Amino acid sequence: MAACPKCSGTEMRHTLVAGSLPANSCYRCKGVLVSLVAYRDWRERSGVAARLNSNPDSATKVADTKDALLCGKCQHVMTKFRVSADTENRIDFCLSCDEVWLDSGEWELIEALVGSGELAKITTQPWQYRVMTDSIERMELTRLKEDFGDSFDKVVELGKVLDGHPARLEILAYLSGKSR
Ligand SMILES: [Zn+2]
Ligand SMILES: [Zn+2]
Repeated sequence: MAACPKCSGTEMRHTLVAGSLPANSCYRCKGVLVSLVAYRDWRERSGVAARLNSNPDSATKVADTKDALLCGKCQHVMTKFRVSADTENRIDFCLSCDEVWLDSGEWELIEALVGSGELAKITTQPWQYRVMTDSIERMELTRLKEDFGDSFDKVVELGKVLDGHPARLEILAYLSGKSR
């Protein structure tokens, strides 16, 4: 049995996530330690039905551990992986045990945000690259929204008009002439 990475000395107990995925859970912080090996196997066995059984509880407050955690099984420092550009939440992953630590509510968050069956992909390089590029895109969008102010929606509309318009260059020349 593994110890909780967050609550030092607390032994975790065997549990079933979403009704049928074997994992270890901590009764104190409500976090769960999920083996990605077990997860992949569970995905194959349960398929789409797993999503129906996951029963996400929107009232659950999602926790996120900012500090580095030590794996409850091997005591190695766990690596943090951001879940998606939509959230700051990061999961903790032990590279040597292939186990993921999910803080209370993170399972539901991932199911809702990332899509069922994708947990194992979060720790991959392509996934992390996408989270990074999505975040940069979002930051740029936020900056443009600030610059354009109330006109943002109109500018977006104008962009759609220009897109593929036969007189696109003439329109742009006209607009830049006006702004001078
Ligand atoms: Zn705990
Ligand atoms: Zn470990």
